Amino acid sequence: MNVVLNSTSQWQQEDREHHLHPFTDIAQLNAKGVRVITKADGVYLWDSEGEKIIDGMSGLWCVNIGYGRKELSEVAARQMDELAYYNTFFQTTTMPATSLATLLSEVTPDGLNHVFYGNSGSESNDTVVRLAWRYWAAKGQPNKTVFIARQNAYHGSTLAGSSLGGMGYMHKQGPLPLPGFEHIEQPHWYFNGADMTSDEYGIKAAGKLEEKILELGADNVAAFIGEPIQGAGGVIVPPDSYWPEIQRICRKYDILLVSDEVICGFGRTGEWFGCQSFGFEPDMMTMAKGMSSGYIPISGVMVHDRLVDVLKDSGDFNHGYTYSGHPVAAAVAQANISILRDEGLVERVKTDIGPYMQERLKAFADHPLVGQVRGRGLIAALELVKDKETHQPFDKVGEVGMICRNHCFENNIIMRATGDSMLLAPPLVITKAEIDELLDKALMCLDLTAKDIGMM
Ligand code: PMP
Repeated sequence: MNVVLNSTSQWQQEDREHHLHPFTDIAQLNAKGVRVITKADGVYLWDSEGEKIIDGMSGLWCVNIGYGRKELSEVAARQMDELAYYNTFFQTTTMPATSLATLLSEVTPDGLNHVFYGNSGSESNDTVVRLAWRYWAAKGQPNKTVFIARQNAYHGSTLAGSSLGGMGYMHKQGPLPLPGFEHIEQPHWYFNGADMTSDEYGIKAAGKLEEKILELGADNVAAFIGEPIQGAGGVIVPPDSYWPEIQRICRKYDILLVSDEVICGFGRTGEWFGCQSFGFEPDMMTMAKGMSSGYIPISGVMVHDRLVDVLKDSGDFNHGYTYSGHPVAAAVAQANISILRDEGLVERVKTDIGPYMQERLKAFADHPLVGQVRGRGLIAALELVKDKETHQPFDKVGEVGMICRNHCFENNIIMRATGDSMLLAPPLVITKAEIDELLDKALMCLDLTAKDIGMM
């Protein structure tokens, strides 16, 4: 049936009838009606009712260069006209796939000089697992298969992604995690170690990795994977001591170290990659989101030379996606990374706009609801707690976060709630005036929440 839809309620009805949304309670959304986003520019979105919304989350942590950059749509159109598709399986490549690989080897840390392409963070984390298995088998250690990750990590929604991830609410919905995926404590100083200095706690939390390796036997462990800052888990910023200690333990037991840079990559923390902000050198690195600023799906795994040296003499790697290195996506990603580089956007997060946002956020610690403000560069969380003195969370975790998120929704600001953490990760192009607007609105929503629950 070909009907022209011209009102919000019609779109909502069609959506109810035919669209299943990710991570969504279907009945609840159907009762409320979905919000229809129609256009975007810079850091702003508009909906079908004409409301202008400030996007404090860069879409889903991905629109690093902001919305509406014509350079990217022009590159996509040109590439579609020239060569809309060809694969990289048949001993063939395309110019965009190859030049993007070269550009990626330039902007990523030393030693990471090869990319394996995918279309999403989840797919690339599946690739990481298969690459690690392949690597250890090629080295004559086929028993090294187990992956160790963290509780509350998010690594995607595929079977390997959700198994690597440490989200209890995902694991509950299936026989998950799959065998061979183990989890250790997340380095959440505020809740797990505030009786110690942050660095003491960082060493203790990293020590959980050593305990797990000894429990499993190093001969059975393939790799440890972690997000430099755990994003979806609540923007958990680890103590400075944590990652160097994790790296030391991985090297000691000959375990691969994988950095999931899907959120932290491409400037979010003020360096090109989160591992550079936290002082470690991964063997593999997963990238997606900011790789194309979300303009088109593309992802990749950067693989260290020392792994490539082994893999290159090990025969076929029987793994790949139809759209690995898709020429249109690769051309868009290349244009996006060139903008990040040529406009100095990463440097700007480090020295200018990142410190500006973090400095302004510090004042939020005085708010009656806010137990902790944490962040780095242009990513931050406000932890809402029942008792600021004792760090006691609310009785039903997530309820107050949801009240706050609903106020944000009604007031045309996008912040995400994870449990009772309110999260921010605006586009890297945001101006100081826009940060002021974002944080003024955030404060207003915190006040409204505090009033709702009688804390103000
Ligand atoms: N890893 C991390 C750290 C992520 O935040 C996400 C997505 N939020 C993923 C992997 C999965 O990426 P995708 O949704 O593109 O599959």
